[in-house]
Amino acid sequence: MHEMAVTEDILRIVTEHAERAGKAHITDIHLVIGDLASFVDDSIQFYFDMLSPGTLAEAATLHFHRIRTRFRCRKCGCEFEPEGYNWLCPQCHALGGDVIAGKEFYVESIEVKEG
Ligand SMILES: [Zn+2]
Repeated sequence: MHEMAVTEDILRIVTEHAERAGKAHITDIHLVIGDLASFVDDSIQFYFDMLSPGTLAEAATLHFHRIRTRFRCRKCGCEFEPEGYNWLCPQCHALGGDVIAGKEFYVESIEVKEG
């Protein structure tokens, strides 16, 4: 379950920020996750609920912003969003290509409450 490790990372990052902001309490955490990053929202939520009590992020709301996978075809340069596991270029029907979006995983922003 790699979600547990990434949830610990998220928690460490956001509480460090909150501490620098004068131990403000975190109310909302915005996460960006690419479809290819293969993290399951529910698992991250599960570990967050388990790990966050007692931290500055306790009871914060997680917001998941999904980024769709995008490929650039190596043959014709066309950029496309694959439908499910159909990774054929819609123009020349070459398979796959270079991933230009979809592997993202980061904390986009946090919202805090003073004092
Ligand atoms: Zn193509």
